[in-house]
Amino acid sequence: MTAFRYDRTPIPEESKEERVGGFGEILEPYRREEAITEARRCLQCAMPFCVQACPITQDCRGYISLIAQERFDDAARLTLRENPLATVLCKTCYHYCEEDCVMGGRGAPIAIRHLKRAALEHGRSDLAYVARPSNGDRIAIIGGGPAGLMAAWDLALRGYSVTVFEAAPYLGGQIESIPKYHLNGTELAYDLARFRNLDVKFELGRRAGGDLVPERLLQDGYSAVLIAVGASSPRHLGIPGEELPGVFYALPFLIALNTGPTGLIGRNDRQIVVIGGGDVALDAARSARRIARDGSVLLVYRKGREAMPAGTEEVEGGEIEGVRFLFERTPVRIEGAGHVERIVVAATRVGPPDARGRPTVAIVPGSEETIPCDTVVIAAGEVADIGSLPAELDFKVSSHGWPEGRKADWMTDVDGVFATGGKSIVYAMGAGSRVAQAIDAYVAAKRGRPATPRPDPFGGAQPPSLPSGYGGPTWQL
Ligand SMILES: Cc1cc2nc3c(=O)[nH]c(=O)nc-3n(C[C@H](O)[C@H](O)[C@H](O)COP(=O)(O)OP(=O)(O)OC[C@H]3O[C@@H](n4cnc5c(N)ncnc54)[C@H](O)[C@@H]3O)c2cc1C
Ligand code: SF4
Ligand code: SF4
Repeated sequence: MTAFRYDRTPIPEESKEERVGGFGEILEPYRREEAITEARRCLQCAMPFCVQACPITQDCRGYISLIAQERFDDAARLTLRENPLATVLCKTCYHYCEEDCVMGGRGAPIAIRHLKRAALEHGRSDLAYVARPSNGDRIAIIGGGPAGLMAAWDLALRGYSVTVFEAAPYLGGQIESIPKYHLNGTELAYDLARFRNLDVKFELGRRAGGDLVPERLLQDGYSAVLIAVGASSPRHLGIPGEELPGVFYALPFLIALNTGPTGLIGRNDRQIVVIGGGDVALDAARSARRIARDGSVLLVYRKGREAMPAGTEEVEGGEIEGVRFLFERTPVRIEGAGHVERIVVAATRVGPPDARGRPTVAIVPGSEETIPCDTVVIAAGEVADIGSLPAELDFKVSSHGWPEGRKADWMTDVDGVFATGGKSIVYAMGAGSRVAQAIDAYVAAKRGRPATPRPDPFGGAQPPSLPSGYGGPTWQL
């Protein structure tokens, strides 16, 4: 009888000292033999819960099986079949698959995300997707983040000519703000190189507004328009002192660290205070820890640790790296003469439920305390920048801030204009894939031709089928 191996093959990683000394990648790849050992722990379940938990239905059971057979080239190809941003995702995905892996209940789940990296790094991943003959229809996509890129890939594979209009001078959306200790910054370009034979044009520096509005694009002959602008404008706290020099918002703070010299941002002679409890707040705090001149970073969150929306990996990473936490405190004002010198916070307690029945947070009277600091980074969430888009689109704004079409297929109130986004990279890609399918169905119906399944992206005769035993998705967009 084969003995189960319940423990995960350890993932090599930097020591604490190496981590806070710079922005080098924390996780190192598995060596070939380590990947094979880890892949051979997989039970190859008849019902693949891991695949069902993945928003892009990545056949992870399949690539794990190929790695176990030492077939790394085939594993890379299978990975890239459903996942055009796999090089990014193999380092950043929140690995929903691992939460549902049956081995999790017996020990540690299979390292599905890290095995994806092994497939791509030990197998041949510099492939090119294959273009299909043009169907004569053009699609405009506004926003070049994961949702827009996935939709562009999917539609181009089906024979559409796609143009992506992106406001920023780069593609990737919020991927560009992910710290370099997770993603070294080369991964997206490596993934997009596989698009080289597809009919996808990227127009950078093109913000929606003026001539670039859906109605005008439809008049110009595009058959449909997708709005995939995400939520990338910082949410403000609305407290006194927020405008002082030394106050930053997390997204521009992280982008500045990724694109500029990793030197000082603000004065950083004293401690840096980060406000927030989500993954972005943890990214900001862990990055601040790497640049703080006196090394001191305090994260202030209005609820308790158990209520933090950030993933366990991020919170534990912050603890290992020396970020300090102050729970059940909320910022009241930021003070200083011409620059941040301190922040005043107050204690919180659970308040009465709001209109939707969710618990609110109330300030405990007389509980104010002053924290000396010279830099404050606010990570209070993001909202979409949709002021330049026409009001008649009548978006529904998701709880995470991105605009969506109100109809079941994400169409807005304007015929032929769709909108979507996602709470993580792979969720945004899942949304991009589903909206691409809806756009294809819409355009095909107008032209009187059948909608087409996504073909094999490497030019095979048969479209890829779902893995055997797949029973339906266990996630919701
Ligand atoms: C700091 C940080 C770290 C993160 N880390 C992770 C992680 O490790 N793993 C993970 O899975 N997820 C992570 N996320 C979340 C993930 O990046 C997002 O969920 C995902 O990028 C959303 O994709 P999207 O395409 O819907 O929107 P976005 O990524 O926001 O892309 C939207 C694009 O539209 C463009 N745009 C906006 N307005 C306009 C306009 N008016 N005209 C033209 N273009 C416009 C934007 O410039 C952007 O390029 C992180 C997010 C942040 C901020
Ligand atoms: S893309 Fe993410 S959720 Fe899907 S299989 Fe890979 S790691 Fe898991
Ligand atoms: S659920 Fe876990 S053990 Fe089962 S096939 Fe998926 S990765 Fe392997």
